[in-house]
Amino acid sequence: MTMHERPGPRAIMLEARDVPLGGLRAMTVRRALPQRALPTIGAWCFVDRFGPQVTTMTVDAHPHTGLQTVTWPLTGEARHRDSLGSHVVLRPGALNLMTAGHGIAHTEHSVTPQTMLDAIQFWVALPEETRDGDAAFETHASLPEVDLGGGARATVVMGELAGVRSPATVHTPLVGVQIDLPAGATVPVPLEPHWEHGVLQVTGDVEVLDTDGGALGAPRDSAILYLGTDRRSVTLRAPSDARVFLLGGEPFPDDLLMWWNFVGRSHQEIADAREAWEAHDARFGTVPEANAVRIPAPPLPAVRLTPRRRRL
Ligand code: MN
Repeated sequence: MTMHERPGPRAIMLEARDVPLGGLRAMTVRRALPQRALPTIGAWCFVDRFGPQVTTMTVDAHPHTGLQTVTWPLTGEARHRDSLGSHVVLRPGALNLMTAGHGIAHTEHSVTPQTMLDAIQFWVALPEETRDGDAAFETHASLPEVDLGGGARATVVMGELAGVRSPATVHTPLVGVQIDLPAGATVPVPLEPHWEHGVLQVTGDVEVLDTDGGALGAPRDSAILYLGTDRRSVTLRAPSDARVFLLGGEPFPDDLLMWWNFVGRSHQEIADAREAWEAHDARFGTVPEANAVRIPAPPLPAVRLTPRRRRL
């Protein structure tokens, strides 16, 4: 385990990239995290934006380890089933939080084929103490809000903002907040100075300003403006109606090894998880779904997998 120093205040634009997901009816997502130079923001280790696009989501059974999936629908519905027996329709406004721990398997499918779909899926890395723990799934349809003034409001999806806590289970100090801003709003957002933060653009234009009013950046197209640590607040200015997602947390102490759907620390752990999935091992259970299709794990690369280190 290595401790990361606080990087100090930064303003670095992390552009999202197009990533084609495999499958029969492939869809393309915009991936903003991880980045080559920055694997995590707090414990947040993965950010995928699905849409907006007219599509059919067909994600067959696949495993996860060592992480939580935070699924946040923006438009449309999808059906989630997992090896704990959960069967839930994911809808906008409700958080769906799946804790993989030692192992879980799940599927995600459109409720109605070829309809407008837009969602964000985040992954949160679990710390050493709980990453091999029990799997869990929880839905939170009622999330607390913080009035930021000027008609802007923050929905506390994960963790804590300004002393207001989400009911969702978290394992490290972090924050994940959706912020909706009406056109013309200019509002301060309080930050925890010991944490690092980033602002993910979701819809509309938004400018991020420092406490002196200086421009820090304007993320577009699902980019994240990385803010580093040691800020007490930033100001968001919305020329038009806008939505962003604030991510943050205590800088994560471990260098992570992320491969396929697994978050680990060593090559051997990842190889073991892959082997267990391919062997239909009880570690991941079975998704109780008629005609369930399993996604096979890709082959491990010929080289030994190594953790990604942060360079920001
Ligand atoms: Mn998944």
